[in-house]
Formats: sequence, structure tokens, C-alpha cells
Amino acid sequence: MVVNQDLGSLRRTHYSADLGPDNDGVRTTVMGWILTVRIHGNITFATIRDRDGDISVVAKKGACPDTVRSILSSLKAHSSVAVSGTVKASTKAPAGFEIIPDELRVFSDVEAVPPFEPVARTVKNIDTRLEMRPIDLRRSVLLHTFRIRSRILQAIRAYFTTEGFTEINTPKIISSATEGGAALFSIFYYDKQAFLAQSPQLYKEQLTMSLEKVFEIAPIFRAESSRTPRHLSEAISIDLEEAFVDYNDVMNRIEGIVGASVDAARLYVENHLDAEIAVPEMPDCIPRHTYEELVGRLQKTDSKMEWGDDLYPSDLKRLKLDGFYFITDWPLGPKPFYVKETKGGDYGRSISESFDLMYGDLEISSGSTRITRRADLESNMRRKGMNVDSFGYHLRAFDYGMPPHAGCGIGLERLLMALTGLANIRDATFYPRDVDRLVP
Ligand code: ATP
Ligand code: MN
Repeated sequence: MVVNQDLGSLRRTHYSADLGPDNDGVRTTVMGWILTVRIHGNITFATIRDRDGDISVVAKKGACPDTVRSILSSLKAHSSVAVSGTVKASTKAPAGFEIIPDELRVFSDVEAVPPFEPVARTVKNIDTRLEMRPIDLRRSVLLHTFRIRSRILQAIRAYFTTEGFTEINTPKIISSATEGGAALFSIFYYDKQAFLAQSPQLYKEQLTMSLEKVFEIAPIFRAESSRTPRHLSEAISIDLEEAFVDYNDVMNRIEGIVGASVDAARLYVENHLDAEIAVPEMPDCIPRHTYEELVGRLQKTDSKMEWGDDLYPSDLKRLKLDGFYFITDWPLGPKPFYVKETKGGDYGRSISESFDLMYGDLEISSGSTRITRRADLESNMRRKGMNVDSFGYHLRAFDYGMPPHAGCGIGLERLLMALTGLANIRDATFYPRDVDRLVP
């Protein structure tokens, strides 16, 4: 076998998606990796996969150089190759064309037997796959999932740009908990203790004082000790914060953001039919249910839930809520210190200007109108047992004309789960971090 690692001046002329039966007779150089090789007597059929999809290569004795056919026949799945040749329209080939090769370059051969088949649509054991993540991502279902992820991010950035938001980046190494209580990762920062940020909450609020409309797409870190299919220790949060609006306006924004994401995912799937991913329909507007309403409905079932309890997936299943919907006006008690109380709530039943965006029983986003008065923030912090002094850097800003503002955080991996039907959040990120996993 001739392995020539050198790319030299050789360049790809077409991706798989650029070619079709209409290109009959065209000279081409394609690059990618070997998905399958089958030998039928004097004919060798190979499939090369690139970023976009699959290309059939047919090496028939007499129709191509013998060395090309014999080397192609000897290749194992995953070998990295370039093939130059002529496109031939063919009704037998899955994409309606094949390549008759006259040159083959093998950049790197395969040294070991992969632990799972590249064509497998599902591999039961996710740990086996994660040990070989770069190879796992060559499977078409994940390859397409991650390309959709990228399209969703592009669509969301485009939405924010059109709507006049400024993209920000805030520190991920911080000195004190954003919301108190919640599980933080502690790290060494020179000779001091520091933490990894669980959310950009306080910084993004401060930045509304000048920039008014801000967004950040960045990691959040959460020491989630439970092992669930929907929690990561490091996740990507799409955070937005906006001045001179309340939580209703933020829900309208979410409709725009989710709508743009659904459109981007659907467009991708329409152009990549082999992706076999079903993207949900986006309703014109996302239904909004108050917490109060859902509790009332639950209390008419055999649920034992009481006003003030969280709504668990089992409760939501009972109500047969599916697709995207909002749950609004949550009890104030469990909400973070910066969430605004609804005026005129019943005594003992304080509620908040807050919402969760749900997809079935999966929480995708939480948002709220925020408090603008420093004294209210401080009294909430005391009530929650937080150290007010350690937040001096934040509270100080509220002495200087903080505008009314509201915002939310949307979990990118959770959104991707909803849009592509993934069952495990570990497949919505390249290299998941969880209680048991710090590699690869
Ligand atoms: P949950 O109740 O599902 O644990 P949360 O209410 O603690 O989530 P928030 O603090 O409201 O989460 O964070 C806003 C959004 O960030 C969530 O709606 C979710 O989409 C995402 N998110 C939060 N924690 C995680 C995590 N550990 N892994 C993945 N996404 C997360
Ligand atoms: Mn939440």
C-alpha cells in the first residue's frame, strides 16, 4: 500500500453535495474518508464520506489503472483519501452518480479496528463512543446534528444582530457565587480561591446600563451531582439581557430565537435528506400557561402537588403538555435574588415576573424581569443567607440609574435536543463533562 501523507498541491474540487448526475463527464477531485469497500470480482465499490455526505467510487478492471483498483480494494474503513476521476451519472448509485477513478491518494491508513461501525445509526453504549469521540462524530447522525448546531448558532447570532444586540464576553473565573447556594466549581487562582461562573447573570445586567441590549454565548459551569440525560457540568448558555423591557418582551424574543433556530434546522434537513432528523414544527406563537393554571389542572388529577412545589417532569407528563410552551409567573420563593416580584400578589403567595420555556418535560430556558432597586436586592440576599458584602462590586452599580431590564438564559444543548430529537444531552456537545467524565 502506498501511503503518501503529503497533500502537496492537490486540492479538492468538489464536496459530495456539489456533485450530481448533471455533472456527468466532469473531472473532479474529492476528499474524505472511506466508509465502505466492497469487492465484486473485477469491480471494487467504495464509498467516500465527506462533510456533506457520501460519494460512490467504482473501480472496474480496464476502466481505471490496476494500482488504483488494488489499493482501493485494500483500504479499511476510515482511511483518509483523495480520489481524482470522472463523474458518471448512474441510476444504481445512491446519489445518482459515481466516480470512475484514475488517481487515488491515501493520506493515512487505519491502524486499529474501530470499536463500532461507522455506518451504525445507533451504538448503545455512549461511553464506548465517547472514548472515540472524533471517530464517533463521523457517523452521519452526529455529523448532521453538529452541523445543525452550527446553523442554529448562526441563525441566533443573525437574530441578535438584526435586533440591535451587542455580543459580550464576561469573566468565567469569578470570586463569589452568582446566585448563592448553587453548586460551584472551586479553583485555585494564584494564591486565592476562585470559582467557575455558573452564569453571566450579574455582568450582563450591569452591561444593560450602557449597551442596553446584550447577548453572550458561552460556557456555564455547574457542579450537578445528579446523573441525568439533561445535565452537563459544562454547558453552553445563550444569555440575553435587555433594558426597558419586561419578561413578556423577553418571551417574544424567545419566540423569535426559537423560530429562527427551527427554520435553520429545517432548511438544513431539507438540503440533507440523509440526515434522517425530524425537526419539530414551530407554532406561530408559543402557548403561555401560568404556574397557577397548571397547578389547578394538576390538582384535578391524582397528583399530590401543592402550590409552591416545583413542577416535575412526571407532573408535566400528566398534563400531556408537548412541543414548546411557557410556564409563567412562578412562585417567588425559590427564584434567585434578582428576580422581580409581581405587584399585587396575594399575601403568602408571592409570585414573580418569570417564565420557563419548556419542550415537553424538558426545560430549555428560564427568564424574568429583574429587580432594579439596590435595597430590594440586598434584602433578598439577606433572606437567602447570601453575603451582601461580597457582592459590593455588583450592587454599587445600582446606585447610578439602573434601567428596568429583563432577560433569560437558553441552554444551547437542550435546544439542540429539542430540535433534533436527541435523548441524551451528552450527544448535544462535542466533549461532554459530567460527574463521571473529565476526558476526553
Ligand atoms: P434544571 O432545573 O433543568 O436543572 P435550572 O433551572 O437549574 O435547570 P437555569 O439556572 O434556569 O437552570 O439555567 C438556564 C438554562 O440553562 C436552563 O433552562 C437550561 O436550558 C440550561 N442549563 C442549566 N443548567 C444546565 C446543565 N447543568 N446542563 C445543561 N443545561 C443547563
Ligand atoms: Mn431554570
